[in-house]
Amino acid sequence: MKFPISMTASLAGYIFKNKMRPRPEWQKTVAAVPDASNPFRILSTMPAKPGEKRQPHPMINKRFPIVLMLEPLHACNLTCTGCGRIREYESTITERVPLEECLMAVDECGAPVVSICGGEPMMYPQIGELVAGILQRDRYIYLCTNGMFIKKRLHEFKPDKRLYFNVHLDGMEKNHDIAVEREGVFKQAIEGIKLAKAAGFQVCTNTTVYKETDMKEIEELFLYLETLGVDGHQIAPAYGYSAVNDREIFLTRDDVHEKFKDIARLAKRFAIRQTPVYLEFLKGERDLPCTAWGNPTYNVKGWKGPCYLITDGHYKTFEDFMTQTPWENYGHGNDPRCDHCMVHCGYEPSAALGINVGLADNLKMLAWTLK
Ligand code: SF4
Repeated sequence: MKFPISMTASLAGYIFKNKMRPRPEWQKTVAAVPDASNPFRILSTMPAKPGEKRQPHPMINKRFPIVLMLEPLHACNLTCTGCGRIREYESTITERVPLEECLMAVDECGAPVVSICGGEPMMYPQIGELVAGILQRDRYIYLCTNGMFIKKRLHEFKPDKRLYFNVHLDGMEKNHDIAVEREGVFKQAIEGIKLAKAAGFQVCTNTTVYKETDMKEIEELFLYLETLGVDGHQIAPAYGYSAVNDREIFLTRDDVHEKFKDIARLAKRFAIRQTPVYLEFLKGERDLPCTAWGNPTYNVKGWKGPCYLITDGHYKTFEDFMTQTPWENYGHGNDPRCDHCMVHCGYEPSAALGINVGLADNLKMLAWTLK
């Protein structure tokens, strides 16, 4: 099976409960209050067409978090070409979210899955305690890392069916090292993967597809990772958000459809963790609305709104993030910054929540979960 049965059951129960009884205060529509202190803010310039009303979001009454993106720090030992964090958060790069505050964010949000990212979370001094604290709260964890510190810090963790190391790999050795702008990173990441697997941990990889990515090389990478016993792969298109808006490397929607046109074959062959519905969206076979509230981000500045990619504000509490973000202003067709976005943190919740999804899709999703 792609996921442990306990994870599938717990997520399905959580989603069912929240769809049946959504928190009323999270479903209100509010007017935009932009954060003027944010240097990367770009105001939406897309007016509603004369006489045209925006379509209400199909999940307007069903907002709730599924995956918390927890960034305990933004410091990193690398300067990857496509990374927005080290640019957008340059002024707070030395700051960290205290351990107790990280755990408070986990409690406050209540999402059943926590993706610990950054920065490089393996540079967080109390990373072992943070992971243990989140597991104590019975959450599932993806610990996103470039893999270089696994060897040094593996002893701080215990294997657990709810914990995955999620190692960033954008290609085979030569191209991955170019993407992360340092030689030797691929080798160290692979060494980390081997050590983690040998110690009984679950390991996934996380790949971002850029304009110059050769999908044949990604297949080669997955074949190689199979020999190491890697448990699964996350894969998503790069998106040129405001902090790193460089159209040279990022993809338009048409580029994404072209890159992912053969993804169904890869998904049959390898343990790709993205849902079949989201993969069809990447191929351009269906549309999905943005459900960024399903993947809230917490970092040194607070709750980042509206999403992991663009920043129009930081909110002090999760309640403020959910109730004060003008959700109707975002997504394809509502904000020009969203026009080419197809990232999984914006759209995978839509697939998981069954938006724009029929009975046949639900069966497909079930078969995918059980595979
Ligand atoms: S479409 Fe959604 S996830 Fe993508 S940039 Fe816009 S608000 Fe963020």
